[in-house]
Amino acid sequence: MKIIFVTDLHGAEWKYDRLFSAARDLKADIVINAGDMLPKHGDLFQQGEFISSFLRDHFSRFDSAGIYYLSYLGNDDLMIFDKVFEETCNQFSYIIPLAQRIFVLDGYEFIGMNWVVDYPFRLKDRCRMDTKDYVFQKQFGTGLLSTAEGWKDLDDWFAYAHSLPTIEEELIKLPHPENTQNSIYVIHMPPSGSGLDKCYNGSEVGSKAIYEFIMKHQPKLTLHGHIHESPVMTGKWYAKNGKTICIQPGQLDDFTYVTIDLDAMEFDRFREKYREILT
Ligand SMILES: [Zn+2]
Repeated sequence: MKIIFVTDLHGAEWKYDRLFSAARDLKADIVINAGDMLPKHGDLFQQGEFISSFLRDHFSRFDSAGIYYLSYLGNDDLMIFDKVFEETCNQFSYIIPLAQRIFVLDGYEFIGMNWVVDYPFRLKDRCRMDTKDYVFQKQFGTGLLSTAEGWKDLDDWFAYAHSLPTIEEELIKLPHPENTQNSIYVIHMPPSGSGLDKCYNGSEVGSKAIYEFIMKHQPKLTLHGHIHESPVMTGKWYAKNGKTICIQPGQLDDFTYVTIDLDAMEFDRFREKYREILT
């Protein structure tokens, strides 16, 4: 089974176009897009229109080509648009919304999760404490949640976060695979301690709960994103944790993606410059 894995496209339309060409050229069976799919700059409340116009057309190309497309929104994609995202996916038989869901194909079980460990940024739609004893980072301002009426200010984000399930608890709630050895977890947040989570400022922000989950259950493969610059900072885009291979391709100016031959367990990472699509 051939897979193309990509993450953190943040509404870059030329990268989405290249993704389709890459999938077609590889004769991919599945494309996996691990979140932060929508434009990040300007008015975030316009993201819904990107879903119902550009993303819908993007999905329809894969559906027509018979290529499965597993995806979910990420922490920079407003949660108020989850419904329009799912409805858009559900217009097509090959487009599968994977957040907190399982999808089975040819004996492989794909499980998605798009909650992230809290960060200093203000948008908190998908943020969680990692574990019960999680220590928060210094915040850039009051927390914000998206609502249909606009931003809702959180007077006390720390107290609110304590009322939510932790990442550790969210992982337990996920659907269970029948055969863990053939399971592939698509988790936007990277694990800690694997060289897949290093920010420009040198801090390593990965989830301890996700690392522990991987070590305990030992799935075949885990796919992550979120920290775009990490491969540049550590020189690593994959790691082995026990028997599990963990991949975090990163995403900077170039279009970056990974091809996976799941049966052979072979991986390659590609970076394509913007210039290349102009010639
Ligand atoms: Zn992210």
